[in-house]
Amino acid sequence: MDFDLFVIGGGSAGVRCARIAAGHGARVGVAEARFWGGTCVNIGCVPKKFMVMAAEYGLAAKDSVGFGWDAPKAKHHWATLIAAKDKEIARLNGIYQRLLQQSGAEVFEARASFIDAHTLDVGGKRITAEKIVIATGGHPTRLDIPGAELGIVSDDAFYLADCPKRVAIIGSGYIAVEFAGIFAGLGAQTHLIYRQPLPLRGFDEDLRLLLAEQMQGNHVILHPDTTPVSIVAHGNERSLALSDNSVLDVDMVFFATGRAPNVAGLNLAAAGVKTKPSGAVVVDESMASSIPHIYAIGDVTDRLNLTPVATAEGHAVADTLFGHKPRKISLENVPTAVFSIPPIATVGITEEQAPPGAKIFVAKFKPMRHQISGRQRFSLMKLVVDGVTDKVLGVHMLGEDAPEIVQGLAVAVIAGATKADFDKTIGIHPTAAEEFVTLRTITRVVGQAMAAQ
Ligand code: NDP
Repeated sequence: MDFDLFVIGGGSAGVRCARIAAGHGARVGVAEARFWGGTCVNIGCVPKKFMVMAAEYGLAAKDSVGFGWDAPKAKHHWATLIAAKDKEIARLNGIYQRLLQQSGAEVFEARASFIDAHTLDVGGKRITAEKIVIATGGHPTRLDIPGAELGIVSDDAFYLADCPKRVAIIGSGYIAVEFAGIFAGLGAQTHLIYRQPLPLRGFDEDLRLLLAEQMQGNHVILHPDTTPVSIVAHGNERSLALSDNSVLDVDMVFFATGRAPNVAGLNLAAAGVKTKPSGAVVVDESMASSIPHIYAIGDVTDRLNLTPVATAEGHAVADTLFGHKPRKISLENVPTAVFSIPPIATVGITEEQAPPGAKIFVAKFKPMRHQISGRQRFSLMKLVVDGVTDKVLGVHMLGEDAPEIVQGLAVAVIAGATKADFDKTIGIHPTAAEEFVTLRTITRVVGQAMAAQ
């Protein structure tokens, strides 16, 4: 065999897997046809966060007036932001590639596809490997409506020549909600069209409700219980017909309607690797596919499509195969954040998923900063506590710094901390985070009409 391990895909999952395996002494090859670092670094988490920051600066400039700043009316220059973002992403790209090369892995800037279960075609070269890891990620999808090709997807949103003046975003998952904050914050008239009564299906209801209110406060125009019907172009303008018979005339329609695994062209059938109808590679809990020496990690498995999960899976597969440290990644209690404005972060179960008898503690307040800025912004924090064991089962927050705060609390949840542990922790004052350790009054008990207040 040419390699002990060949990794297809140089995104977060693939790069981590290749580097760690090479560090364990394996002969590793890795192929990437597009850009090192994959979706997260190039057209996902990282550039998205820069764009969220850009939007937040505009809001902060307005908020500073209450604090005595004579802020000039801010005008945003889209091209400056995109150039700065591109420069930073190019730097990160280079780091990813260098780290890989320094690890000793052989790098192929080419597409790979299966010839048989141990043989790959890598850019026209025939390569054999003992173990193969599929880490090809996913891509954004459009809805199947007339004129769908006239809309953009998140891949395109990072390279727009200009910020649209009017944008209609379809969907209300992570990407829709995050880009609604970006475009509205940068001055675009922003519509959010979604088929649920509230955005972010699956998240805690109280957070969803407050997020909808806060988005409206940021001038996002919400269209709940609505689906798109068709898109028609009039020059550069797009007319988006909706299920409520209204038509929105906008400059851009943005599909944020989910992602699908990248399996086209891999010729998985030649290797006998089983996929789901969605194309996702079927894996067991050690990330092995239906063919025992072929593994799949990250978004191509379409389980929990988050970068840190993908890197953890890549690391675990490398340790298991070449580091004599077999381990599995648990998808339980994975913390996650939505970089909406304001952001959301959460770990553990929601109130809706909580067992009867679970105690719910909620605090909703106006952050200190906005007592003076005058902005109608609120934070919400929630603990879901087991009624029998007193263990904290869920931590949820909407509000400034939520992702930074909940990351630490996720350690406590994973460690099995109880509400009593939270109560005996001294707060850091004055912070928003201290609310999590000073929640004394039960707001509700799950399954009981009204708890003692
Ligand atoms: P999501 O799966 O989160 O959301 C898809 C949205 O599209 C939902 O609102 C869904 O509605 C809607 N939708 C799907 N099909 C239809 C349809 N036929 N008609 C109308 N609406 C439809 O996908 P995203 O594209 O937002 O993101 C993909 C994944 O990427 C996320 O799940 C997440 O794992 C990851 N991600 C993570 C981020 C982070 O960690 N901060 C940031 C960005 C992405 P409904 O809810 O009704 O199904």
